[in-house]
Amino acid sequence: MIYIGIGANLGNREKTLQDAAGILDAKPEIAVVAASAVYETAPIGVIDQPYFLNAVLQVHTSLSARSLLNCLLAIERGFGRVRQTRWGPRTLDLDILFYGDTVINQPGLQVPHPHLHERAFVLIPLCDLNPDLKHPVLDQSIQFLTDSLGMDLPVRKIEGLNLITRTRRQQII
Ligand code: ATP
Ligand code: CA
Ligand code: CA
Repeated sequence: MIYIGIGANLGNREKTLQDAAGILDAKPEIAVVAASAVYETAPIGVIDQPYFLNAVLQVHTSLSARSLLNCLLAIERGFGRVRQTRWGPRTLDLDILFYGDTVINQPGLQVPHPHLHERAFVLIPLCDLNPDLKHPVLDQSIQFLTDSLGMDLPVRKIEGLNLITRTRRQQII
């Protein structure tokens, strides 16, 4: 199972997440099969920037992890993403979180995503989709990793925002 983290903290964040999920799903090689709820998250690292919206998508794809990454980077560019400071504000961020059980440590591509186990804004949406999923390196479940973060998690669920279209949902069901 392949999971993609999606985030935005500039512009119309809701629309960006919905449009980006639609663009991914419209690619012939990619199907978005499930989406977590959307969460609002305070920025970490560089804290003087707007709040983020974050979610996680589950996809099926025939693309390799490297080709999928290239596709995600191209979609980010399409949303006007300019890399200035790391962890700085961005119109759209798309990260490969898991690519099945595959472990990749290459220049420019690390899978599982090296920070996912520290991030409530990744783990909590992943829990929506698959709490029993095991991290192939840490050998712990997403639920366990989430519980390890402690109680006071800085994320707030946004009610009523779906990243998967009605048409698509009907196709999957
Ligand atoms: P973080 O990686 O800590 O979430 P970020 O998303 O802000 O930070 P970016 O500027 O979006 O970082 O990405 C920097 C580079 O990270 C990308 O150009 C890409 O080559 C590389 N990268 C390595 N592993 C991954 C991955 N699993 N998913 C997405 N990008 C990755
Ligand atoms: Ca990121
Ligand atoms: Ca990124």
